Amino acid sequence: MASPYRKILVAIDCSDESATVLARAAGVLEGVSGELHLIHVIEPLALAYGADVPMDVTDLQSGLVEQAKQTAHQYAERYHIPDKHIYVELGSIEKTILGKADSLEADLIVVGSHTRSGLALLLGSTARGLVPGSHCDVLAVKVDKKKD
Ligand code: AMP
Repeated sequence: MASPYRKILVAIDCSDESATVLARAAGVLEGVSGELHLIHVIEPLALAYGADVPMDVTDLQSGLVEQAKQTAHQYAERYHIPDKHIYVELGSIEKTILGKADSLEADLIVVGSHTRSGLALLLGSTARGLVPGSHCDVLAVKVDKKKD
């Protein structure tokens, strides 16, 4: 049966695990024609730290955005993802990913997922946060480091 997925939004945090997440997303489209779209979200610093940051963070923020754009483009190149399918946006991670998936009418969101235990379980994961608000399927790719 052909893959039902044609438009995939891949969310990357720009860490090394992004390669695994992207490879899995590209695998879903193997042998079928479809589109990969890549998103990286930067949480606004002032929003993340509020009044605890007693300085103007505008320059720092634009530096982060530029750096993230470069990294996202490097990952995108490996899978021939065109520039117009790369989104580096400021906002809250889950809301921004869901908003982009909706506006693209994506049929699959692909994210990485770490196994959690103990207190981390209470915090939840990005993947779990996406599922309730998503209008399409969500693929959570296990990205835990293998133990030797
Ligand atoms: P978690 O298990 O919550 O650490 O989620 C890790 C995964 O969530 C990453 O592999 C990405 O797919 C996604 N993710 C985390 N942070 C971001 C971000 N800033 N922008 C886009 N996706 C992200």
